[in-house]
Amino acid sequence: MKYIKSQSIFTALFFTVLVFVQCSNTANTNGKVTLLSNNDTIKKDTMKVIKTDAEWKEQLSPQEYKVLREKATDRPFTGEYENHWDSGIYVCKGCGTELFRSETKFDAGCGWPSFYEGLDSSKITEVVDISMGMRRVEVLCSKCGGHLGHVFTDGFGTPTGLRYCINSSSLGFKKKE
Ligand SMILES: [Zn+2]
Repeated sequence: MKYIKSQSIFTALFFTVLVFVQCSNTANTNGKVTLLSNNDTIKKDTMKVIKTDAEWKEQLSPQEYKVLREKATDRPFTGEYENHWDSGIYVCKGCGTELFRSETKFDAGCGWPSFYEGLDSSKITEVVDISMGMRRVEVLCSKCGGHLGHVFTDGFGTPTGLRYCINSSSLGFKKKE
């Protein structure tokens, strides 16, 4: 009788441990699921903005549409930000991505807003452009594909030697509080 009783206790103890181990595994699995969810959130945040021409036309002014979606260029010395020196962040007019810091803007005298570097290289895509009989490097917003301008190597006297020559029509501005 005594033997049977102690065996029952042993069996109960065994199952308790077993259940505990299984619970621990479940907890681990839950941990992994949470981690995957975080990754999903990161992916969503870097997703590209894809809109139809009709949607872009509704969102943008005719000049903004011509520049951002059809790669036109603002006339020099006419843009809103050409002679604009407030502190803040210049963002993409198409999707709001932060592109340039006011601290990197300089007066290149060329008639367009000029910056010597992008805020984050992953947010700007640079591609070789051989239109207009010239070989230039076009600058695009990585998120919405909007045309921003071109980057040249004549940013003389700047820390990088680069001149991101950007259309005001491609930009919005978030003033520093
Ligand atoms: Zn954009």
